[in-house]
Amino acid sequence: MNLEMLLEEKFGYRSFRTGQREIIEDVMRGRHVLAMLPTGGGKSLCYQLPGYLLPGSVLIISPLVSLMEDQVSQLRQRGEKRVIALNSFLDSDLKRAAFSNLSYFRFIYASPEILQSPSLMQALKNVKISLFVVDEAHCISQWGHDFRPDFLKLGDIRKLVGSPPCLALTATAPPEVMDDIVRTLQLDEVQRHIYSIDRPNIAIKVEKMDSVEEKVRQLIHYAKTLQSPGLIYFSSRQWAEIIARRLQEEGIEGVAYYHGGMDAEQRMLIQQQFLRDQLQIVCCTNAFGMGVNKANIRFVIHFHFPGQLEAYLQEIGRAGRDGKHSIAILLYTNGDEDMVQSLMEMELPTDAQIKQLCESLLTNAQDASEWKQQLSAQLGLTEVQWRILDYFFETEGVFSSLSSLTRDDVQLLSAKLCKRIEERKRWKRKKLHQMLSWLFHSTCRREWIVRAFHQQLEQTPYACCDRCGFSLDDYLYKQKIEKAWTFHSWEEELKRIFFMK
Ligand code: ADP
Ligand code: MG
Repeated sequence: MNLEMLLEEKFGYRSFRTGQREIIEDVMRGRHVLAMLPTGGGKSLCYQLPGYLLPGSVLIISPLVSLMEDQVSQLRQRGEKRVIALNSFLDSDLKRAAFSNLSYFRFIYASPEILQSPSLMQALKNVKISLFVVDEAHCISQWGHDFRPDFLKLGDIRKLVGSPPCLALTATAPPEVMDDIVRTLQLDEVQRHIYSIDRPNIAIKVEKMDSVEEKVRQLIHYAKTLQSPGLIYFSSRQWAEIIARRLQEEGIEGVAYYHGGMDAEQRMLIQQQFLRDQLQIVCCTNAFGMGVNKANIRFVIHFHFPGQLEAYLQEIGRAGRDGKHSIAILLYTNGDEDMVQSLMEMELPTDAQIKQLCESLLTNAQDASEWKQQLSAQLGLTEVQWRILDYFFETEGVFSSLSSLTRDDVQLLSAKLCKRIEERKRWKRKKLHQMLSWLFHSTCRREWIVRAFHQQLEQTPYACCDRCGFSLDDYLYKQKIEKAWTFHSWEEELKRIFFMK
């Protein structure tokens, strides 16, 4: 069957988007593929369509449970029954049943954590895996902004499941991260399909404000006037909550907040309400958004900016997945970078904490998990700090030789770790510096970003950025009413009537 026919039959799409066909063809040739398509570019299809042609199952490793559940429910809505998500939410009876029958499934989604389970690995040995997919593959790289140490084991896991061809997908990987992905996954010959990271339908605006108060006022103004739905990013949980309340007090409807301090059910609820247009604005931290596939987000505002250009691109990339005009606005006040800097420093353990931590290996050296528990309570380490430390100790083989560690070993370890953390700090400062250079540069914002990824901007879109000039009016709420009455085509109108759009 030809690929276009299958595309229409299974997914209802008439044509491939940029890059999809080329990627799929290489996947079908059994090659290892590293693909970079922009956020919302349609990466999922690059393994979902081959899933209908390949003889065995497709194993997809995905970093977030919500992301996985979202993908699974979309496939189910399309009538696919042979799909399952294996993660910590799956109850144990279902898990047992699924493990004993894994080869039934065409699409097996798994979190990297659950792949650590020996019973799953055993079960996977009886399954023919035709394609090994790593979604959001930049999580592999310790230089990636979303680094997940669990992703580092994926190279070995791929071998354990019979070394199938691999498809690594990402939207934001600068060259050093791409190299890291290929190395970690232990892929010898890789076809790289790298497409422009640019999203021409997202206009970019940076606005400098004289004070925080002015920034809040401007934010309220935007929340009232911009066409929604929209996301507003903050660097702290408190800010997200405070501003969400403030917007509610201003009489703006459908506002909520979302951050990592809320429990899983609450977060799931907000995400679902937002996806279903029951909420218009979500004030959030960077905990919100990875893989959230909402097509009609019209604006993304940064009340605080992230410390890296890649993270910024991921966040603004949540806008305009339907291809329609959308806007990204970054509100800046003098000194915002100090907050980013101090958050960055806080994320990494101090030299004193490292020393204390390493010394405790001598006294509490019984069991790694007990040791971790005691220490995180004592030292007050954050989750991110733990992730980094865990990765370090594991790669140094500390946990397997706990009982035989000497004082010299520990001193050496401590020095090594301090050096490693210092390196990371330096690297983070460099990233922040890049972000600031972008903020203060006087040329086209889009071109600057694209060049930072070693690419070239092929075309400047109609609404580009505040440096090139564009009309903010195009993004205001009144457009919604006008547009609602524009007749497109019968097909479009029918879809609208039946709430399919
Ligand atoms: P990402 O690249 O960010 O992972 P997704 O795979 O989630 O993007 O796809 C984004 C949206 O684009 C989805 O709603 C998907 O159904 C849609 N899409 C993907 N491929 C096509 C296509 N060829 N034609 C039309 N829509 C598509
Ligand atoms: Mg995706």
